[in-house]
Amino acid sequence: MPVDSADVVIIGGGVSGLSSAYFLAKAGKDVVVVEKGTVGSEASGRSGGMISERVGESPLVPLAVESLNIWAGLDDELGYPTEFTHHGRLQVAVTEEQMDEVFSERDAAFAHGINVDQLDPSEMRDMIPGLSEKALVGVFFPNGGHANPQRTVQAFAWALQDMKGRLYQNTAVTGMKVADGRVSSVETSAGTIEAETVVAAAGPQTALLAEMVDVHVPAAPARVEMLATAPLEPLFKIALVGNGLYGRQAARGNLLFGGGPHEWADVGLTTDPDKPNTPLIRNIARRLAELLPGAADVPVIRSWAGVVEQCPDYLPIIDFLDSPSNYVVVTASAHGFGLAPATGKAASDLVLHGESSIDISGLGLRRFDNVGTGWRDERGWIPAPEQPAAH
Ligand SMILES: Cc1cc2nc3c(=O)[nH]c(=O)nc-3n(C[C@H](O)[C@H](O)[C@H](O)COP(=O)(O)OP(=O)(O)OC[C@H]3O[C@@H](n4cnc5c(N)ncnc54)[C@H](O)[C@@H]3O)c2cc1C
Repeated sequence: MPVDSADVVIIGGGVSGLSSAYFLAKAGKDVVVVEKGTVGSEASGRSGGMISERVGESPLVPLAVESLNIWAGLDDELGYPTEFTHHGRLQVAVTEEQMDEVFSERDAAFAHGINVDQLDPSEMRDMIPGLSEKALVGVFFPNGGHANPQRTVQAFAWALQDMKGRLYQNTAVTGMKVADGRVSSVETSAGTIEAETVVAAAGPQTALLAEMVDVHVPAAPARVEMLATAPLEPLFKIALVGNGLYGRQAARGNLLFGGGPHEWADVGLTTDPDKPNTPLIRNIARRLAELLPGAADVPVIRSWAGVVEQCPDYLPIIDFLDSPSNYVVVTASAHGFGLAPATGKAASDLVLHGESSIDISGLGLRRFDNVGTGWRDERGWIPAPEQPAAH
């Protein structure tokens, strides 16, 4: 006997799954979310909270721009606070090499018709008290921002429940039944849930779920690390990227900063993945002290890691598959927090209309048709040595 049935069963109670669930419930669908832990207990609750237009990744720009539009009204939309602040994002270069990255972001923004301002060192120091004397040049994106990941996940979850969406926490998906080319039900640790449509938004486990329905999703798990300092007086409200770091000052005053490189990790289908910190945290602390010497003596009080999934091109997958014909894959890559409102909208569009109102044409699974199962091993020990993991 099934324990439940729904129009749409969403696997994963992270920010992508909950955003998808919210927009589907808002459109009148009967929605169930199945989460093996508690909402946001994996990458989504551990995120840096940075939100940007992702100008360096052309296929993502329409999604990222639409996401920022949704973020601007999200607290009112959901009826709960996300702590979204919209004061812009500054990308700073403190070395000659980083200047190339900054200029390439500036040029990419212009190419997408997005206005940015180039700032000199004194303008940057007005914006960020305590910024390094070594800061050479910066580009300011007026539209960037950040939000509190824990509050955001909770806001989506509560808003979903307000619309009678059902949330099964501490419930793991263990299998799927496929009949006539469709997933007919999802097997969970609480019993069988019948589904008209399934949205798999299970973070790094999305690839393992896909294997159950004979689909190869080349999204491999990687560890991302962050630290928090003791609270400081209010210094800046913008999102700050520089010296291989990204971060913000939280509402309580803590500086929250993270950066790469991201090492590959491993996950099981139903277990909590290991996510220890590594000596990378010391390196992040050093880079933060270089970037903000004014904060160099402030103690680091916490550090943590989370596991994200990375595709060969570091971009998400949002796709309604041909087979099984009622199965939507949603992966977020390493920057899915900022994108999540639009990701959820796009996923709900796919379920409701078979196509997305936001241009996600560059994010289909078919772009990996020629990628074999051994691609991760061919990359070496870290997914993207050349990427500073800037958000
Ligand atoms: C330290 C860190 C910093 C980051 N900083 C930023 C940032 O500043 N900006 C940004 O945009 N992004 C950032 N990211 C990335 C961002 O957090 C993720 O891309 C995003 O949260 C992914 O959301 P998700 O819902 O797709 O996946 P997840 O949050 O991983 O959610 C998937 C959920 O599926 C559940 N699940 C898995 N398997 C099963 C199963 N078998 N049954 C039931 N449930 C299952 C998991 O428990 C999990 O809760 C960061 C990530 C980390 C770890």
